[in-house]
Amino acid sequence: MTQVKRFIAGAVCPRCGEMDRIVMYREGERQYRECVSCGFHDEIRLQTPPREVQTRVSGSADEAKPVRLIDPEDAGS
Ligand SMILES: [Zn+2]
Repeated sequence: MTQVKRFIAGAVCPRCGEMDRIVMYREGERQYRECVSCGFHDEIRLQTPPREVQTRVSGSADEAKPVRLIDPEDAGS
C-alpha cells in the first residue's frame, strides 16, 4: 500500500511551531497530519462544507485566507 504524504503549505505544527513541516496522508477513510520535524501527528477531521454556501462577491481578493486545519480541541472527541 502506498502512502502519499503531501506537505501542507503554511501549516504550523501545534507542538513545535515549525512551519511547512506538516504533511498529510490518508489511511483508508481517515486523514492524518504529521509533523516531520517533531513527530507530532493526529487525525484531521474534515468537515465537508455544504454546496450551497453563498459566495460573497465583494471584490476583495486580499482577504483570501490560507487553508486552516481543525484543531482537535475544537472538534471534540
Ligand atoms: Zn512539530
